[in-house]
Amino acid sequence: MRDRIHGHLDADITLLRGAAGFFTASELVTAEEFRLYVERLDLERYDPGVQGLGFSQRIPASQKEAWSERIRANGVPSFRIWPEEPREEYHAIIYLQPQDARNRELLGYDMFTEPIRREAMERAWLSGEPSLSGKLGLHDGPAQAGFLLYVPVYQGSALPLTEAERRQRLEGFVYSAFRARELFEGIFPHASQLQVSLRVYDGMEARPEQLLYDSASPEEERPQAPRFTSTLPLEVAERPWALVFTSSRAFERTLLTPWVPVIGMMGLLLSLLMFAIARSQLSARQRAEASEAERARFLAREQEAHAEAEAQRTYLRELFMQAPALIFILRGRQLVFEFTNSAFQELMGHRELLGRPILEALPDLSPDIVAMLDSAFVSERPQFGREVLIPIAYATGHVEERVWNFVCQPRRNPEGKVDGVMLFAFEVTEQVRARQEAEVLAQELRQAVQARDEFLSVASHELKTPLTPLSLKLQTLAREAAAQPDSPFALKVRAHVEAGRKQLKRLSDLIGDLLDVSRISSGQMKLYWEPVDFAAVVREVAARLEPEAAKAQSLLTVEVPEAVPGSSDRMRLEQIVENLLTNAIKYGAGKPIQVRLEARSERVTLTVKDQGIGIAPEDQARIFERFERAVSGRNYGGLGLGLYITRTIVEALGGTLRVQSQLDQGACFTVELPRERSAP
Ligand code: ADP
Repeated sequence: MRDRIHGHLDADITLLRGAAGFFTASELVTAEEFRLYVERLDLERYDPGVQGLGFSQRIPASQKEAWSERIRANGVPSFRIWPEEPREEYHAIIYLQPQDARNRELLGYDMFTEPIRREAMERAWLSGEPSLSGKLGLHDGPAQAGFLLYVPVYQGSALPLTEAERRQRLEGFVYSAFRARELFEGIFPHASQLQVSLRVYDGMEARPEQLLYDSASPEEERPQAPRFTSTLPLEVAERPWALVFTSSRAFERTLLTPWVPVIGMMGLLLSLLMFAIARSQLSARQRAEASEAERARFLAREQEAHAEAEAQRTYLRELFMQAPALIFILRGRQLVFEFTNSAFQELMGHRELLGRPILEALPDLSPDIVAMLDSAFVSERPQFGREVLIPIAYATGHVEERVWNFVCQPRRNPEGKVDGVMLFAFEVTEQVRARQEAEVLAQELRQAVQARDEFLSVASHELKTPLTPLSLKLQTLAREAAAQPDSPFALKVRAHVEAGRKQLKRLSDLIGDLLDVSRISSGQMKLYWEPVDFAAVVREVAARLEPEAAKAQSLLTVEVPEAVPGSSDRMRLEQIVENLLTNAIKYGAGKPIQVRLEARSERVTLTVKDQGIGIAPEDQARIFERFERAVSGRNYGGLGLGLYITRTIVEALGGTLRVQSQLDQGACFTVELPRERSAP
């Protein structure tokens, strides 16, 4: 549509150029000549939009009257130039075709006095080019929009080249006036059927006041907001126009408007469907890729696990191989060698083992061991061999006897069925040998101890035997001396008898201790339980040893309840008190000694406390053992048996013996005994 408008106006411009040429070629164009020229153009038919085609003459003020006179003489008697205000230069329409009433009225009109026309005229004048005017209201009939097209005509035959030349040499303008409606309806005779509305605006923008043409008839219903709008620029003879195309109601109806949402919805659904399909394909692909990746991962993991298992197997095999034990695996009922470790291979030397049944490979193997392997397979239970002597016959002929511990372990396949036997054998030759040696020694040792104990027992009995007659002899001697108290012999003898008694007592005590020790070590020490007054026993022993304490210059204090009846072995009880008190006198000489007895319902507590040399902590446990002493024999005589015997008796009576002491701070021995015999 734009091209058609452009083409049509181009044709009009050409037509005007032609007319301008006619003016340039002819020295003076008469009104008659111009009429003929325009008639020949047959504008009415060719271009119904052209309201008129005319010539505007440039007239200097000086020639105003001459020109008016001339036109009046040429058939327009009423001719005058208007508006009339005097000015330097006038432009006046001197010819205008067709000669209708309205056009005749326009003769003499100075278009230069009207700004819109003047702008186009000046543009044409100075550029030498056809120039289209802005929108004009053409006053013929109801508000008719229109415009003018000017083509300048210069004096002389050659066209002026410069602007100054053009300014000076302007003769006038050939121009045509266009009625927009007729023009465009001529261009688009069937516009109403086009279903597209065209609006043509003067200027670059579609401003309502600049509307030149609207294809829609006023009565035609037009969409408030047309669905489609397109604005195109068009430049005609240096003048910009805006062409606005909009979809008409009729056109929009043809768009199956009610279906639009449906079609839209269908389109949307189709899009969604396509989207879904594409997406499902994509996700299927992604899934496939993912599952492929997953598979690859699994594969990698499986390979990893496989490699790991293989490594473990190799490691295990290495462990088996290097184990400091004999290991072999036999397969099937025939017990065919399936695996043998280095240690076993080494022992077997050159023999071919793998793949051969054990009976064939090792015909000289002890039948007992073969039977155990067999039994492990059949009974499905492990069989153990302890310290089994297996002679190893070397190729050199040398035979070595070696001792083994071994286990024959049934091997199960993954289904749990026994399919072979494994043997693990650990050599214990050295251990057995060492143990045997130790055992020999411990016998020997036991024998030595026994011999000593026997000797002690025999010796103490033998030593004790002459003591009784010796003691009787001394008593007799003492009695005889007492019978003659005044004889000089008696006085001499009494002192010797007394010394002899003391030595005898000491010897008797020593032998008694030795006897006790041998009784204890042979388990023959017997207790004789009887009713006992603990208090009386303590008092009596203390009284007996009182002279000894006095001799040692130790003050003996005895704190004992009136009576503490209970039951015990009276003789052994005396031995306990005597031993502790003797030690206190021996190791605490010159310092006070306290003996105390406390009684409770079930137990009695005896403490013997001295202020003597004391016992270092590190010696306090040791002194209760046999022959153990914490002093040197040079300073204090003794065998180191007293506390051992005392402790053994106390424990046999169901009591405890303990010591509290510091070196040089005295010692306090505490005996706790049950008051009554407890159930044996
Ligand atoms: P012995 O007195 O014949 O050496 P004992 O078995 O009676 O043997 O005593 C063992 C050791 O315990 C003694 O050699 C002595 O070193 C230490 N001992 C025993 N009683 C006392 C005491 N009351 N004070 C200091 N040391 C003691």
